[in-house]
Amino acid sequence: MSETTITKDASCMDDFDPGSLTPDAALERIFASLKPLTEIEEVPVREALHRVLARDIHSGINVPSGRNSAMDGYAIHADDLPKSGTVELNVVGSSFAGQPYQGDVANGQCVRIMTGAIMPGNTDTVVIQEHTEKNSNDTVLIGTDTKPGGNVREAGEDLAVGDLVLQAGMRLTPADIGILASLGIANVPVIRRLRVAFFSTGDELRSIGEELEDGMIYDSNRYTLHGMLARLGADIIDMGVVRDDPALLEKAFIEARDQADVLLTSGGVSVGEADYVKNVLTNLGDVNFWKVAMKPGRPLTFGKLADTFFFGLPGNPVSVMVTFYQFVQPALKQLMGEPYQPPALLKVPCLSDLRKRPGRVEYQRGVLELQDDGTMAVRKTGKQGSGILRSMADANCFIVLPMDSAGVKPGDHVDVQLFHGLM
Ligand code: AMP
Ligand code: MG
Repeated sequence: MSETTITKDASCMDDFDPGSLTPDAALERIFASLKPLTEIEEVPVREALHRVLARDIHSGINVPSGRNSAMDGYAIHADDLPKSGTVELNVVGSSFAGQPYQGDVANGQCVRIMTGAIMPGNTDTVVIQEHTEKNSNDTVLIGTDTKPGGNVREAGEDLAVGDLVLQAGMRLTPADIGILASLGIANVPVIRRLRVAFFSTGDELRSIGEELEDGMIYDSNRYTLHGMLARLGADIIDMGVVRDDPALLEKAFIEARDQADVLLTSGGVSVGEADYVKNVLTNLGDVNFWKVAMKPGRPLTFGKLADTFFFGLPGNPVSVMVTFYQFVQPALKQLMGEPYQPPALLKVPCLSDLRKRPGRVEYQRGVLELQDDGTMAVRKTGKQGSGILRSMADANCFIVLPMDSAGVKPGDHVDVQLFHGLM
């Protein structure tokens, strides 16, 4: 029997494959199967930085606790303010932050006051020092520069008793940590850390410290993954390099399944002969192999091994980072208890000529920069091959080219997705 034609499967060189999912559809399928963590732990307030808050926080106190001065100056009664010209008031004492003035203050009197000090008696207005003139040691002249009630901070003006201050599901920033501290909260309920295991596959991979024989390369994916996971605050389990050997792969998958919430692998998901990942996984779990209509990063695997979520990322270093950023990072955030927020896209002019054919979404690597005229524009970072990690390292954003785009000419507007510090 002689073959005269070769039936072609869709490959990553094709532009459009009707069997491919759009990136949005792939993300939707991932979200549909995720179950966010619910286990809560209490951590000291400082250690809650970048953790996901597990319960709403309501204020138990007023911040500030009492009415106090916003400036250095003199606390007075508003009805002593002159309509015109100046008025002379008697200075009857001082109020410092932490050392309030205890007595009463009558009309015609005032109290020297410092920022943060409690307003004495029934005073309601502070005349700032710069708007006063000292007549003698115990009198002061004030003019018309001050509004009634001016320069005073009300009790509870920042946070009032009962206010919903921080919401469950938010990732705590330094400002949030400060708010918790201002409420006197020592321990904070957060979602427990997500345990993420990962390994690289490939006979050609060597680890740092090993001899690099002919045709071998150093494993970089485990390092970029480690970095991206560390930024997300995951508990990281680095399982090293696993050779392209079905028995070793099976052993590694079982080990990861038994200790991690999520397993990430890189490599071994194309159709190469030594790519055993697909067979091993199909035997062990409930796994979908998808082609996603995107570049780079077309082959993507998602599924479950018992209760462990699994992502099989492509092998090429740029594809790993792009698929991580587009799929894994939103999924991990969701698992960590953070509600999904679609990435914000900025529309800016592109300075480069970008080649592209319709049929897939492309994530080219770009630099978004301030131009001489004060506007922002983006340019691409050199060669865009999926093995060229420099294109990522030099970039601060993705230039997202939609499915139907047929390329970009300099001056055209494009969508830009900033890295948001996670890369
Ligand atoms: P694969 O999907 O296993 O066929 O890998 C695709 C390409 O990515 C090959 O050129 C691999 O050598 C390369 N590659 C795979 N894994 C890694 C890794 N961990 N670090 C650097 N390059 C890799
Ligand atoms: Mg491989």
